[in-house]
Amino acid sequence: MVGQMLKGTCRNCNDTKIQVIARGQYAWAEYCPQCFSECKLCEGTGYIFEKDNEGREYAKPCMCRNLNLRITLFNNAQIPGQFYNATFDNFEVTADPSLEEALRTASFFYKNYQRGNWKGLLFMGGVGVGKTRLVSTILRDFTLNHGIPGIFKEFTALLSEIKAGYDKGLSESSILEKINNTEILIIDELGKGRKSDWEINILDSVISNRYNMRKTTIFTTNYTDKKTTTYAEPIIVRTDNDSQKEKFKKETLEQRVFSRIYSRLKGMCDFIEIKGPDQRYPDM
Ligand SMILES: [Zn+2]
Ligand SMILES: [Zn+2]
Repeated sequence: MVGQMLKGTCRNCNDTKIQVIARGQYAWAEYCPQCFSECKLCEGTGYIFEKDNEGREYAKPCMCRNLNLRITLFNNAQIPGQFYNATFDNFEVTADPSLEEALRTASFFYKNYQRGNWKGLLFMGGVGVGKTRLVSTILRDFTLNHGIPGIFKEFTALLSEIKAGYDKGLSESSILEKINNTEILIIDELGKGRKSDWEINILDSVISNRYNMRKTTIFTTNYTDKKTTTYAEPIIVRTDNDSQKEKFKKETLEQRVFSRIYSRLKGMCDFIEIKGPDQRYPDM
């Protein structure tokens, strides 16, 4: 039996034939180097030849093309490298019970997803409660297990890409085309940024497009519905005797993105709050 692998024995990929690693900024999938050998059915050509009723030979796509497609979809999704191995099975729930609830909602959403049933999810909660890990997990399963295309985009990274595009003479629509057209769009860090007219216009254009096209979008945001739990942004203020003091500015999600975008979000997503450890900040 030397050199021959028994069925169900690859510990590297758990017999999925795919290994996932962190390669630079993004997670990366490739054929498992320990168990994958050239497809025996098609000898790596991607086609198998069969005969029809009249004995004429025709080419039929081989099953292995499906594996290829899922690897490509995963690599196009731009999932953050640090979450390359995030799955529903290895998701550790150590924080608040609300994270467990969010995990269940995400898992239900993923298992019951159908094209046409387009309503997405919006996860809100403090820094470090596990939101980005959770949405990375969802996108990994969509691309790698279901063969459904999607893209992960951190909102301020999108803004930087658009600005870099301007410098090269590219319009914003040429940058936004990919994310407008993808089936599952993840927007991480919604509400982050300087809240300028330009930034709000870009956000409005992305959200209106997804809404009008009835396409599924999943968001994360540090800003919540309530002043008590929303992100407290540290700012330095000058006091009367000319010394500096740190205070916290609190804005709700609606205040960050304004009413028009907020009501669109309500129409296209279920809102789920993940609570973090209790933190108290002096109000502005
Ligand atoms: Zn393997
Ligand atoms: Zn094949």
